[in-house]
Amino acid sequence: MTVGSLARRSSRLAEVRWGERIVQIGSDAPIVVQSMTNTDTADAIATAIQVKALAQAGSELVRITVNTPQAAQAVPAIREQLDRMGLDVPLVGDFHYNGHKLLTQYPDCAQALSKYRINPGNVGSGTRREDNFAQMIEVACRWDKPVRIGVNWGSLDQALLASLMDQNAARAQPWEAASVMREALVASAVGSAQRAVELGMAPERIILSAKVSSVQDLVAVYGELASRCDYPLHLGLTEAGMGSKGIVASTAALAVLLQQGIGDTIRVSLTPEPNGDRTREVIVAQEILQSMGLRAFAPMVVACPGCGRTSSTFFQELADKIQRHLREQMPHWRASYPGVETMQVAVMGCVVNGPGESKHADIGISLPGADEAPVAPVFVDGERTVTLKGERIAEEFQAIVDDYVRRRYGAGLATELAQ
Ligand code: SF4
Repeated sequence: MTVGSLARRSSRLAEVRWGERIVQIGSDAPIVVQSMTNTDTADAIATAIQVKALAQAGSELVRITVNTPQAAQAVPAIREQLDRMGLDVPLVGDFHYNGHKLLTQYPDCAQALSKYRINPGNVGSGTRREDNFAQMIEVACRWDKPVRIGVNWGSLDQALLASLMDQNAARAQPWEAASVMREALVASAVGSAQRAVELGMAPERIILSAKVSSVQDLVAVYGELASRCDYPLHLGLTEAGMGSKGIVASTAALAVLLQQGIGDTIRVSLTPEPNGDRTREVIVAQEILQSMGLRAFAPMVVACPGCGRTSSTFFQELADKIQRHLREQMPHWRASYPGVETMQVAVMGCVVNGPGESKHADIGISLPGADEAPVAPVFVDGERTVTLKGERIAEEFQAIVDDYVRRRYGAGLATELAQ
């Protein structure tokens, strides 16, 4: 499968802009990786620092909470800090309850944001709901900003849910409560989009999401959503959780949907460990897309799990070292060595699968297992080129990888420049 070859279901294309930067979402555009800060937005410096870290990790959009007047006042300052650092990553404002007031009362905030997230379940109740929603759409139209109409089962429109429950009770064969809840999520997203269009918003300015925290519910809800609209879809398992649970659950849900061509932008909602690195969610999102062959972000390291044949932790350390080295180099390599992000590097633990896997990779090393001669053959483009031994195998292999990148991908650049 070639990168990005799955046919996508959404036919519309939305654009999120800041300055010269245009991030396209939907249709045939590459699936966009996004993330969200967890700093207090009112602390403009801390938020700008975290946005910078997320953007440098590869987040193509960064969402920030805009929950108070202080946060709304800080948004232009955050934007200014980023612009000063030369970072044009678009900022998305996340609004609940008071978004209509903040967007109206703080026009500099409305202008500095590139997209607004509106939760139809959190815009008020009764007639206020309709007015508040209309007010946010009106601001988005005035500033020519796209919106994500983001429904979440934790804050589902209760009036809509009650009405659907009543309709269900009148059925000859009522649906299960879970099916009614799923229908409420989809109806809330699609109905709110329709209302936004009636209010004057261009359909090309709308992105939808309907997030839940169960894998099966997410697959069912997005399958239904994709069949009932052609808006670009923002995909994510909400409240995915911590550590491996959050990664596995997100991957399970997103992979099923992406394989069906559903999903135009993704966010992996990981709970960081205390003082953990927020950029983990960006790396995981990239790795989901790259593992599926949908996009390429950084060279991948293929490593065996190790077994009783591996006599030390050396091979794990080398795999980890090379993986980190490749990621660290990417900010420089991306510009200088186009195509390097598709490179595959194999680091294998012994002779059983080592040479075979190394030959399949662009560049690979097969380390000596227990009872094997202490030598490590290196394979480049399928050919055995050199055998490393001694104390400096790690350093020498890293130098061989760097040299390979320069020769293979640097040459590509030179050819392009010459044309
Ligand atoms: S390649 Fe060798 S060390 Fe690695 S898992 Fe297979 S048998 Fe074990």
